[in-house]
Amino acid sequence: MEYGWNGFLLEVPEEMRFTREGGNAEKGNLRFEAEDFFFEMKWEPFTPKKARSIAEVAEDFIKQMKKSKKRAVNVLRKDTTQVFKHKAFCLSLKSALDERLYMWYCDESKRVVTCHFAFKSFDEACKKMMTHAIETLKCHTEKSYVWSLLNFRFEIPPSFLLTDRKITIGRASFLFVERKASPFAEKSREILVEYFSMANLLFEDTYRDLRKWFEKNYMKDLKKRYRQLGFQSEQSRKFKRHDMVIKQGKSLSSLSSLTARKTSMRTNATWYCSRTNRIYSLTISSTIARPLIFKRSLDLEAYKNLIEEFFSSFMCH
Ligand SMILES: [Zn+2]
Ligand SMILES: [Zn+2]
Repeated sequence: MEYGWNGFLLEVPEEMRFTREGGNAEKGNLRFEAEDFFFEMKWEPFTPKKARSIAEVAEDFIKQMKKSKKRAVNVLRKDTTQVFKHKAFCLSLKSALDERLYMWYCDESKRVVTCHFAFKSFDEACKKMMTHAIETLKCHTEKSYVWSLLNFRFEIPPSFLLTDRKITIGRASFLFVERKASPFAEKSREILVEYFSMANLLFEDTYRDLRKWFEKNYMKDLKKRYRQLGFQSEQSRKFKRHDMVIKQGKSLSSLSSLTARKTSMRTNATWYCSRTNRIYSLTISSTIARPLIFKRSLDLEAYKNLIEEFFSSFMCH
């Protein structure tokens, strides 16, 4: 099963559950669990000036492990290996569990990465699973980041950081934000990806009429996030054989300081995916805030391109 998360792309077996995650592409972690083993990844910024050798990073990791487990951790073997295009440090550890550590510097994404596997007992099947995860793992890309989980997939530029997320049984929500500040303007772009599952049950009366669904169930939520939300136009379009409703809007607002103003553009696309029984709703926005005396013009071309590229990468089932 493919997982794309914060600039990492890898394959893990079906039986592994994605159980925890935190942070963003710069610094973060994620964890998968199965009956008899777990797999954790951690990454943090790599600053060449303060760089420690990977061996030192490994030493620290083991020290932390000993401290948190309050029992012996023995290092059985130290090796070097290759992960994606990097030279990596590999450690075999024995605690109450059989553990393996892979650590490396990704100079492309500027991160120090640690992969930590722990097994009740390490056998051929474990080895196969671990090797597959490590061999398929990609820690950097020249293109957009692939986000792939829970049966859907999309790509967005690496400059968008995951800043908010919620995954519950009936609803999953991911917010990505890109900020660019200069002395005379503050620009930000956001991509909000949401879906609602079991749509034919939970929205029995509206899931076939997305305009109604949007007004009745979603608009209020969206307004909490985007206060000046208003859509001036609406059109229908086919998306992977589903009917998609696209709404567009533009708003002007004053900021707290009287001398600055904000211009925002927003696009929302909503559709019902019959294959997964989910309602997907994507909202893309672009905002520029500047002092009143300056013209605030949004780069329409870039905005259109972002939307087109994002939509064309999106797979809902
Ligand atoms: Zn890399
Ligand atoms: Zn679909």
